[in-house]
Amino acid sequence: MIINYMEEVVSRYLQKALRSEEYASICKCEACIDDIMAKALNNLKPFYITTKKGEVYAEYSSLENQHQAEVIAEVTKAIEFVSKKPNH
Ligand SMILES: [Zn+2]
Repeated sequence: MIINYMEEVVSRYLQKALRSEEYASICKCEACIDDIMAKALNNLKPFYITTKKGEVYAEYSSLENQHQAEVIAEVTKAIEFVSKKPNH
């Protein structure tokens, strides 16, 4: 099975960001979350890994640290864009 590990990283950071006070008032429905994810992921380089179900991604945590600043920047941009113009 192949997954884009960047999706994991973005999804994890997005969940965290959406719990912050800064984004307390924005729409967090499934459509908006998907739009934010898609927009952020389009601006980030994918990182494909092969994986077995249930595998822990600990060995890729260095990737996460390496790309953290980029992920934060793109997710923040995507949140701002989608929350201003929700697609519904
Ligand atoms: Zn929404």
